[in-house]
Amino acid sequence: MSDGQAAGRPRHVYFSPFRNSLVIREGFAMEKRAAGERDRREWAEGIRRRLGLVAEVHRCRAYADDEGGGWVWACLRPGCLGAGYSYRSQPAAFAEALAHARAFMPEPPEDEPLTELQWALYVAFSEDAERQREADEAALGARILAVTEQVNDAFAGILPDGLRFEWRADGE
Ligand SMILES: [Zn+2]
Repeated sequence: MSDGQAAGRPRHVYFSPFRNSLVIREGFAMEKRAAGERDRREWAEGIRRRLGLVAEVHRCRAYADDEGGGWVWACLRPGCLGAGYSYRSQPAAFAEALAHARAFMPEPPEDEPLTELQWALYVAFSEDAERQREADEAALGARILAVTEQVNDAFAGILPDGLRFEWRADGE
């Protein structure tokens, strides 16, 4: 920075209305940047929470209430005022604390219900596939016969008497 002073001389702090306004503006800019950063973080956090990627963690503590008697639970999350008093037992207080913590767990996304159109398509495709399978099976019988005849014609006079080519379609 050049302030017009010779090197080696102690730099005095330079005040001016102009500089002050710069300082103030810089302060504002820093605040704005921090706010923007916070907004982005909160936005990302919100998205992740909606996608069920993060749970808001509400750790709780259940303890005996020495003054009021009974058991107490309190949420340890900063800013959360979740608490309950005068439970007769520790498990009762703990159950309430657990219910509080669970209330902030994201629900897994529900399966989308099958629409009528999807179902109609599924039925049509499976009926179609079934028809195709039946047609293929019916055609296979005729094809086996045709190939068998062809092979036997080709081997006529070559195979010993009484031997015949046969296609075993059962795969055994
Ligand atoms: Zn809480």
